[in-house]
Amino acid sequence: MKKVIIRKTEEIENWRRNINSKINFIPTMGNLHNGHIKLISAAKNDNSNVNLVSIFVNPLQFDNKLDLVNYPRTIDNDIKISFTNGADAIFIPSAEDIYPPNNNIEFLKASIALSSNLCGLSRSGHFDGVCTVIYRLLDLIKPKNLYLGEKDWQQLLILKNLILTKKLNVSVKSIPTQRDFDGIPLSSRNVHLSKNERKLIRFFSNELLEAKKKFQQEKKISVKTIIKKLTAEKISIEYLEHLHPNTLQKARTEDNISLLAGAIRCGETRLIDHVFLMKRRPIIAIDGPAGSGKSTVTKLIAKKLKLLYLDTGAMYRALSWLLIKEKIDYKTEKKLQNILKNVSIVFKSNENSHQDVFINNYCVTEEIRSQEISSIVSKISSIKEVRKFLVEEQRKIGKSGDLVAEGRDIGTTVFPNAELKIFLTASIDERAKRRKSDKQSKDSQEIDFNTLKELIKKRDYEDSNREISPLIKANDAIEIITDGYSINEVVDKIIDLYNDKIPKETQIK
Ligand code: C5P
Repeated sequence: MKKVIIRKTEEIENWRRNINSKINFIPTMGNLHNGHIKLISAAKNDNSNVNLVSIFVNPLQFDNKLDLVNYPRTIDNDIKISFTNGADAIFIPSAEDIYPPNNNIEFLKASIALSSNLCGLSRSGHFDGVCTVIYRLLDLIKPKNLYLGEKDWQQLLILKNLILTKKLNVSVKSIPTQRDFDGIPLSSRNVHLSKNERKLIRFFSNELLEAKKKFQQEKKISVKTIIKKLTAEKISIEYLEHLHPNTLQKARTEDNISLLAGAIRCGETRLIDHVFLMKRRPIIAIDGPAGSGKSTVTKLIAKKLKLLYLDTGAMYRALSWLLIKEKIDYKTEKKLQNILKNVSIVFKSNENSHQDVFINNYCVTEEIRSQEISSIVSKISSIKEVRKFLVEEQRKIGKSGDLVAEGRDIGTTVFPNAELKIFLTASIDERAKRRKSDKQSKDSQEIDFNTLKELIKKRDYEDSNREISPLIKANDAIEIITDGYSINEVVDKIIDLYNDKIPKETQIK
């Protein structure tokens, strides 16, 4: 494809009509550095869409006129960098093009909830200007994907909110903050820093990075102590706050991921930085009734996001298998407790990269899928001692996170603080159809369709009506009804939700 530079808004429409492809859009204000390069390459590597980089120093978002005048402009180099790293087109409009005086431009207000603190406190009108220009650019370019850096985390949240409230059909893709060799986040404004200013900023950024490391071990933070340390270095702090990463409200003790964000001033330059603090790495909980596609979807998500896969149903099935095999009278509490004391259930990857389930060192992967087990497992899984034992085992497996777990009570009981909770379901006909074609559930292939439907209904009823941890949708779970959707569509939807909720920075291994 011929690489083009577009300078006029009218040309954008022609260009869009001619390319016959979806668009990845990477908005910038120029003076491109490695952070921008990462955005352009992320767009290039994500899909086969056409990549458009815009270079526009938006006057509306500068609360300080001197900052606007002094903003570094390196257009020739920016063009070279963009094309070399994967841009197919570059849009370089003038301010008159973006804001024509006689045109009805919609000047927007940023979400008050998200723009009233942090940078919003000192940069009056800044986020309104950001929303206005991005809305205008999105309207002109109509991209499928919008690529933004997490470095400006508050801005990212505000823009996601804008897209949601304006119901724009564009997905936001974010990339982690890119740091220089000395820990300072890359920023176009860094060129203004004197040697001494850079030293102070390095101290600030490294304090944040240190706090992040310390938090991993101690699971707590003292913002006051950090402020004291920064002040002792004569660093002028504008703010340093410990917040919920998505609402920007004060962090709560139950938040597993939180945000430590700060802004400092060094001479004429103002710099922001942040880190995410994590008690454990993220967890996805996927619950739903039998045959809703949980296993297939969960396995694929684990593979794509490189997370540990936990099939809790297999644990209930394995235990049921043992109780039947050893003819244990599980209704007698004492006998059951004795068995539970000595049970070990482990998952191991086999040579086909699938998971095998072992109970007391015996591989039961195939045997637990029989109709005999399917018809007894709900009964056994409703026993208090069984649930207590297996929930503890499941929590041990998920202790450090980086896990996607499927079951009936993951979001409500096992991991109530999971970062993303999905309730996967489908109509009874669809679920029975899936079970029928599922090679793993051999028993389902042997019975007729209507009997299978009745068996699934019975299991749904038992699972949903038991006393302890019944199958219900957690309040904060997102329900996905999968009728009519392909497996890949469901997987992509869940991965989009995960990326939308969970900062990319916390996903780095
Ligand atoms: O998901 P799967 O069909 O293998 O689950 C088998 C059974 O195990 C369910 O019908 C349910 O009775 C039980 N189970 C449970 N809690 C979970 C997972 C499964 O009670 N978290």
